[in-house]
Amino acid sequence: MSALPIHCNYHQTRPGVAVCVSCYCVICAECTTQFDGIHRCTSCLEYFLSAFSAPLSLRNDWGIAGALGAGLALASMFGMTLLVAYCLSIFFAPTLG
Ligand SMILES: [Zn+2]
Ligand SMILES: [Zn+2]
Repeated sequence: MSALPIHCNYHQTRPGVAVCVSCYCVICAECTTQFDGIHRCTSCLEYFLSAFSAPLSLRNDWGIAGALGAGLALASMFGMTLLVAYCLSIFFAPTLG
């Protein structure tokens, strides 16, 4: 049993040194890009960076989604508090009564 030679997804003659975290393709030393210490192939990094420099309208969409998410989180936290209060009231009701 010998290990299969794994080559770069973009360069068939070069040995792969890393795996892209986004598309899981094998990439060689030249193709790998490290952004925040994470390996990405060049095409995935381009996509990643384009997401960063997205137009303002897209960011607004994300802002609304973020606000909705925060609202839901807050609502669920409030619900949890009510649930805990309810459970405590049941637990302590006999001793108080
Ligand atoms: Zn990739
Ligand atoms: Zn390559």
